[in-house]
Order: sequence, then C-alpha cells, then structure tokens
Amino acid sequence: MKRKVLLIYTGGTIGMEKDYETGSLQAFDFGNIFKKIPEMKLLECEVSVHPFKKPLDSSDMGPEEWKIIANYIGKNYDNYDGFLILHGTDTMSYTASALSFMLKNLTKPVILTGSQLPIGDLRTDAKENLLTGLYYASLYENDEAVIQEVAVYFEYKLLRGNRTLKYSAEFFDAYQTPNYPVLGQSGVHLNVSKDCLWRNKTSEPFRVDNHISQDVLFWRIFPGMHLNHFNEIPNVKVLVLQVFGSGTIFNTEKTQRTLQSLRDQDTEIVVISQCVSGGIRFGKYTNSNIFKKIGAISGNDITSESAITKAMHLLDNPNYTGTFAENFSKNLCGEVSEN
Ligand code: ASP
Repeated sequence: MKRKVLLIYTGGTIGMEKDYETGSLQAFDFGNIFKKIPEMKLLECEVSVHPFKKPLDSSDMGPEEWKIIANYIGKNYDNYDGFLILHGTDTMSYTASALSFMLKNLTKPVILTGSQLPIGDLRTDAKENLLTGLYYASLYENDEAVIQEVAVYFEYKLLRGNRTLKYSAEFFDAYQTPNYPVLGQSGVHLNVSKDCLWRNKTSEPFRVDNHISQDVLFWRIFPGMHLNHFNEIPNVKVLVLQVFGSGTIFNTEKTQRTLQSLRDQDTEIVVISQCVSGGIRFGKYTNSNIFKKIGAISGNDITSESAITKAMHLLDNPNYTGTFAENFSKNLCGEVSEN
C-alpha cells in the first residue's frame, strides 16, 4: 500500500534556482517539483504538494505562519500518513519547536527539511534532504508510523525538532541536537534509533492547540551588562534569561534587587544556559542561588528556540491547568531531559 504524504512548501533556499544570466537566486514554481526531480515518482509514497502562495524567507516566518501550518496539518491529518514541511533553514528550529507544542498527541510523522544550496544548484543538498525526508515521512511498520513526533531531517541525520539548533551557516551538516541523540541516520541503509523516539504518554486523540502568546522576551547576559536595562522591560510576562554555564550570574545586590522587582511585577523568569551542551543546575554554585531565591524556573538543558516557543505556547493558554511554572517544568514532548 502506497503511503500518502502531504508536502507543505513554505519557502527558503530549497525552493530557489539560479538565474544563470543575472546570477541571482529566485523562487521557482514548486508545483513543478515533479519535473525538477523526476525521481520523486519512483518513491514508494504518493506525494501531494501544497505550496505557500508567497514563498517566505524563514526570517519572515513566525506565530501566524506556525498557526497556518498547524491548522493545515490538523485539517488534513486523517487524509495523510505523514507530513513533510520544506522550510528555510534560518528559523527552522523555532518552527519545529513551536509545532511540537502545538500538534498534540501526534501519531504520524511531521518532518521539516530545507537546504543550504538551492534545488537548482549543481551541488545542491536539497535533493537528498527532500527525498530522504519523504522516506521518513512515510515510514510505517505493522501499520504504525515509526516517527510520531516533529523531527528535522538534514544532511543524513534525523533529529528531534525541538532539540535542534542551527549551528552552521556554511556546512551542509547545519543542525545539531547537543543534548539528545540522533533519531536516525541515513547511509547505505536508512536507520532509526527506536529507543530514542518520542511516544505519547496518553491515548488521547490528535488535536491542534495553536495558542501562541507574544509577551515573551529573551535576554542574554554578558560580563559588564548594565542591569538598568531590565527596569525598562515593558510589562513582559515571561523573561527567558540566558545565563552563564550551569546557571550563574554576577552575584551583586543590584542583580538581586533587579530580578526580584521583575518577579514582584509577576514576570516569570525562565533560566537557560549559554552553553549549547549540558544545562542549568540551580545551587551548584553560589552564583546561581539567587534564582532559587526569587522563584525562577530552571530550563534545564532546553535549547533557547524551544524555551522561547514553549513559553509562548504556555503563557495564558486556557487549555492548561496549573501554573505557568508547573507546566514549563514538565517535559511536554521530549524537549527537555527529566532529572
Ligand atoms: N535565508 C534562508 C531562509 O532561512 C536560508 C535558507 O533557507 O537556508 O529562508
């Protein structure tokens, strides 16, 4: 039986080709993808293409587009076996993270991919990413989807979407998940590490919860930073604070006063690390005790992309019971390690 995959093309380098006269990149009509890559017809799955009317550079993708994608998957969930989203690489980790929180109780694959070189380029990485992405999006065993989560497929690696970060603007191998193992590797054979895959903890049916709030701010501290700027934060409801190492910050009276005054205004403070590998351990050093004192939330080993989108999803979300801190501290869909 041929599995059905819905391919959603949003934009990015992958859908571009070079105009060899002018040398500049231009979007090509993705409806013609079967002409460009006739090999797609050889795949053992049936592909339907849904291109965005106006292909977007991924720096133009945000909450509105995440909702459009989530709702479109929701509308088509029962009619397809898997979903492949073609996306610009710059913000793919944000979209993958946001979708992982919005698409609840997935039992089908939602794979994102893109490329570093346009599909029309001689040395392109687009073809492999697209073809193998389709393979993972249609991979079933005993009538059950092998991947039941939002994943990123890029340069021979299948990765958990909400653990990814784009670490290279240069290499084909552009994504990593420093705090989680690779889900699958494609070489001569296409492998999957089954023990690492996410499985729902409930038997509740799939649904879309597209709640996203934008009252979230992200700050990275640095030695010599003027804490006065914190007082200028306009009524932000969640501050994601990226601090040093395993959770340290300059240990001054002023730090204490400034962060406490934010808490007194009911601002939630989520603490994450500037290190891409490892995470926050409150209490390990004296210079992290302040966070415990003011009731900040530890982001543990979450990525900044995931922390920001998780905060956006949870803040003022009427579909959750419990406090923001309680919900943020949970591992909702594999985005954070459990202590
Ligand atoms: N600027 C492009 C984007 O993110 C880069 C890419 O697709 O690789 O849309």
